[in-house]
Amino acid sequence: MEMAQRKNILDLSYSRLKELVGSLGEPGYRADQIAWWVYKKLATSFDEMTDLPQQLRQQLSEVASLSSLTPVGEKISADEQTRKVLFKLDDGKTIESSLMLYASTGSSRERRTVCVSTQVGCPIGCPFCATGQQAFERNLYPGEIIEQVLYFMRQVRAEQQGKFEELDSARRPVTNVVFMGMGEPLANYESVWQAVVMLNSKHGPGLGARQITISTVGLGPQIRRLAGENIHVELAVSLHAAKDALRNELVPINKRYPLGQLIPACREYLEKTGRRPTFEYALFQGVNDSLGHARELARLLEGLNCQVNLIAGNPTKCREFAPSPRKAVLEFQRQLKESGVSSTIRGSKGADIEAGCGQLRSRWTANSSTS
Ligand code: SAH
Ligand code: SF4
Repeated sequence: MEMAQRKNILDLSYSRLKELVGSLGEPGYRADQIAWWVYKKLATSFDEMTDLPQQLRQQLSEVASLSSLTPVGEKISADEQTRKVLFKLDDGKTIESSLMLYASTGSSRERRTVCVSTQVGCPIGCPFCATGQQAFERNLYPGEIIEQVLYFMRQVRAEQQGKFEELDSARRPVTNVVFMGMGEPLANYESVWQAVVMLNSKHGPGLGARQITISTVGLGPQIRRLAGENIHVELAVSLHAAKDALRNELVPINKRYPLGQLIPACREYLEKTGRRPTFEYALFQGVNDSLGHARELARLLEGLNCQVNLIAGNPTKCREFAPSPRKAVLEFQRQLKESGVSSTIRGSKGADIEAGCGQLRSRWTANSSTS
């Protein structure tokens, strides 16, 4: 191809956007105008940016693009509170993202949470996870991560006409972002962090650090690195087992970063950021759901100010990993409590549309390979 590849504006940090504008001979404040259109007005073309000179809009559209995701499939849960979208990337690979709606309750405000993917496939290969069963293909670029959020912001805004004409801190079409889709966020650190910085920035959508959660399988050194950043996001660690022997099987990277490294890294995260880590524990029948497992978990977390989220595992193709029955989940929780650890039980939202990580994509790939 002769044509130089166009830059995606969403891949540029604020300072790189300034550089781009400078290279076109324009003053720095143009970068602020462009960022405002992209992240506050959710513009999808340079033509919409009516306060930019016509010539600049033309130049920009020649050297840069504003999008690299194409939605190619959508599923909506029966209760309409969860939707999941399959996106095609510029190179034809696919990823998925979901939007989860939560009504306000006595103690919490209404939330609209987007769950983003960070990689195509995942290199970690947890045996109970649909994404882990797919081949790892590549890391996502920052723009590909950010655009998943912008997509749902536009969708919500279009549905609630007039309400979110321009983003402001009181009313955002998307209130929370969780890095819990396909892939391991901390194995794609640079892109993930650039996306976090932009999502949090006053030049970007301006989401609060508390409204952003990174879920990790527990890469110790990267958790420590995260602890040193100046945006203190929420950290969720997918634990699923409290002893190395079992965790080595459920979360294979545990062999490289065993619990003896992981837990101190989480402690450091708490000390440096003041954010209480959350531990995710998916319960699979006969695998990690006995009362003995609950006591082991309590022992592991002793003295660490944290939150435990229990979830009955989502069913997958692998028969070894069947969801624990409700009764076992409740007993597990009761045992944890007796051992001094409080926990919450999470429902698996959107189970009827296979909203669990990587599930829509694996179904999609299965369908398309047979046609
Ligand atoms: N790679 C990161 C983030 C993506 S996975 C991580 O592992 O944390 C998001 C969450 O889905 C993780 O907590 C993961 O353990 C969980 N998960 C994956 N498959 C699941 C299943 N079948 N049942 C329950 N939780 C599952
Ligand atoms: Fe990767 Fe997370 Fe799935 Fe494990 S659970 S395979 S780390 S996406």
